[in-house]
Amino acid sequence: MNLSTIVEVRRPMSLGEIQGWHDGCSWLAGGTWLFSEPQPAVNTLIDLDSLGWTPLAVTEAGLDIAATCRVAELQAFEGPPAWRAVPLFRQCIDAFLMSFKIWNAATIGGNICMSLPAGAMISLTAALEGVCTLWPREGAPREVPVVDLVTGNHANTLRPGELLRNIRLPASALAKRTAMRQVSLTKLGRSAALIIATVGEDGADFLLTVSAATPRPVQLRFSACPSADALRGALDERLPLHAYFDDVHGSAPYKQHVTRYLAEQIRLELA
Ligand SMILES: Cc1cc2nc3c(=O)[nH]c(=O)nc-3n(C[C@H](O)[C@H](O)[C@H](O)COP(=O)(O)OP(=O)(O)OC[C@H]3O[C@@H](n4cnc5c(N)ncnc54)[C@H](O)[C@@H]3O)c2cc1C
Repeated sequence: MNLSTIVEVRRPMSLGEIQGWHDGCSWLAGGTWLFSEPQPAVNTLIDLDSLGWTPLAVTEAGLDIAATCRVAELQAFEGPPAWRAVPLFRQCIDAFLMSFKIWNAATIGGNICMSLPAGAMISLTAALEGVCTLWPREGAPREVPVVDLVTGNHANTLRPGELLRNIRLPASALAKRTAMRQVSLTKLGRSAALIIATVGEDGADFLLTVSAATPRPVQLRFSACPSADALRGALDERLPLHAYFDDVHGSAPYKQHVTRYLAEQIRLELA
């Protein structure tokens, strides 16, 4: 849709060109959300595309995903054979309600900054222990794990004008075995639960990430693959009924039920 309040669109070649951030400014990534509804508080868009960041970079430390990397670019990524978690990228991308038609526009950073419970790139990068590099308007860059950046439904710890620069997935997490389950109340509907677990080679370091069923991603870490009772006990302790996200895509009791059910399926698959 046309945004009738916009009076300026900036296309900086470097961040140094961006002076005078004010309340009406907004970073523009793929624009798939920004242009999907009126933005009465926004009068200036700052397009990140012109910065020309390399979408994906493989290093010894892991995979650097630029915030401006498109969903389609991540979907096409094929990592080194040792990175057994790479097929999880496509599983999570398939979990989007957003159709393939906007994969070429929507960015990984935009999805994380939107901080919606059904943000499948939040699920993916949180489960793979991703760490965000944030560029504040003033001061030094800071690093925040994805799981801590997102604090609720459309809520995060980004400060005004702060920019998500990239997300690093550590090689250690990319080497782990993974299992994922996703469920929606309706066919192609928004995720009601998206549950991922990762585990090391020797069955050590089992990490369960619950998302979509909860307003923000929630992680449970075990030194080894837990028993069914231990997993269920830990889930119920960390996520009492009121901690589930109750909305039109599923009631809290429904989401609690499917979370327990899918977590156990995943545990069995990885055990
Ligand atoms: C049909 C449809 C289906 C959708 N389905 C889903 C879905 O299933 N799950 C879901 O989570 N979302 C969904 N969305 C919402 C949205 O399209 C996605 O979240 C998308 O990933 C946003 O990315 P974008 O690059 O288009 O962000 P934009 O629309 O450009 O930006 C989104 C917000 O993030 C901010 N932002 C973007 N990049 C940065 C950055 N690097 N640093 C700081 N702030 C930044 C922008 O200022 C803006 O406030 C859907 C949208 C549509 C239209």
